Amino acid sequence: MKTNIFTSAILVVAISFQGVFAQKPRVTVLATGGTIAGAGTQSTSSAYQAAQLPIDNLLNAVPEIHNIATLKGEQISQVGSQDMSIDIWLKLAKRIQELFDQNLTDAVVITHGTDTQEETAYFLNLVLKTAKPVILVGAMRSSTAISADGPRNLFNAVTVAVDTASMGKGVLVVMNDKIISARDVTKTHTTAVETFKGGGFGPVGCVEDGQVFFNYDITKKHTSATAFDIRKINALPKVEIVYGYADASPIAIQALMKNKVAGIIVAGVGNGNFNKALGEQIKLATKAGVSVVRASRVGSGRVSLNVEVNDTEFGTLVSEDLNPQKARILLMLGLSQNMSREDLQKLFFTY
Ligand code: ASP
Repeated sequence: MKTNIFTSAILVVAISFQGVFAQKPRVTVLATGGTIAGAGTQSTSSAYQAAQLPIDNLLNAVPEIHNIATLKGEQISQVGSQDMSIDIWLKLAKRIQELFDQNLTDAVVITHGTDTQEETAYFLNLVLKTAKPVILVGAMRSSTAISADGPRNLFNAVTVAVDTASMGKGVLVVMNDKIISARDVTKTHTTAVETFKGGGFGPVGCVEDGQVFFNYDITKKHTSATAFDIRKINALPKVEIVYGYADASPIAIQALMKNKVAGIIVAGVGNGNFNKALGEQIKLATKAGVSVVRASRVGSGRVSLNVEVNDTEFGTLVSEDLNPQKARILLMLGLSQNMSREDLQKLFFTY
C-alpha cells in the first residue's frame, strides 16, 4: 500500500481512537438549530417553529447515544438554516478545528437545519484540517411531530461518528439511515424524510441497527487535502447566484455589478447555458474582473467546458457537477486565496 503523510495521519488517528480512547469515544455535538430542534403545538400538524430546543434537550431525548459515546453539547447558533450565514460557518468551523487541534474530542456531530445543510457540509469539507469524523445531521419533522425523525437520525449520526471506518472520509451527512458525502449531498424534496440524495452518485454507505456500512469512497479532494485552512480564513468575498430561465433579463447581473461582487454563479438552463441578454452582461462582468462560473439549474450532470458555450470568449468557468449553491462556496474560497482563472477552474475539477 502506498503511504503518504495523509494516510499515515489517518493511521495514527485510527490507532489512538481505538487505543488511547479505549473506553467510550468522546463526541462533541455542536448545535446550530433547525427542525431537529424545532417544536410545534400539535403532534398531527406539520406547523412548527425551527430552532427552539437547546442542545441538552436534544441529547437527553436519545438516551441510547450515551451508551456509545461520552457526549458534550455546545450551542453554536439557534437558527433555521435558511438563516445560516458565513459568520456562523466561520465560528462553527473554527470551533471544530480548535476541538481537534487541542485534542478535546474524537469526533464532531453537528445538528443543523436541512434547508442549507449541504452548503455547511461542503464548506466544512473544504476547510477543516482533520481526518477525524465530522457528521452533519438534521430532521425533516419537528421534535413534537408524530414519527419525528430527529432522534433516530441523531442516534445514527453518533453511531457513524464513533466508527473508525468514518475516518478520512471527509465531512458526511447522516439522514434517514443513509450516509452521504458532503461533496455530493443535496436536498431533493421539500417535506419528505427521504429527501437527501447524493446527486448522481448515491450515498457512500448506510446505518442499520447501530451498525455502519460503507460501500464507496469519494475521489474528490477534501479536508486535509485541500488548499483551504479554516485557521487562516476570517472572511469570504461576495459571490452571488443568478438563475437562468426563458427570457431572463440582465437586471440581476447589472445590480450585482453595481454592488461590486467578486464572483457570480450562473444557475444556467440545461448544460449551464444562458440567453443573449445574460451573455452580454456576463462578458462585461468577466472583462471587469468578476469571476463568473456556469453551473446548472437542472440538478444533476456536469457542465461542459467550451461545448455549447465558448467559455474562452465569455471568460467563464464551469462548475463541473457542483450545484450552484456549492459552486458558490468553492468560488468564494478560491477567490479568498487570490487564485488565477486557470487555478480556479482546476478547483472545480478536483474538489
Ligand atoms: N427550515 C428548516 C431549517 O432548515 C428546515 C429543516 O430543518 O428541516 O432549519
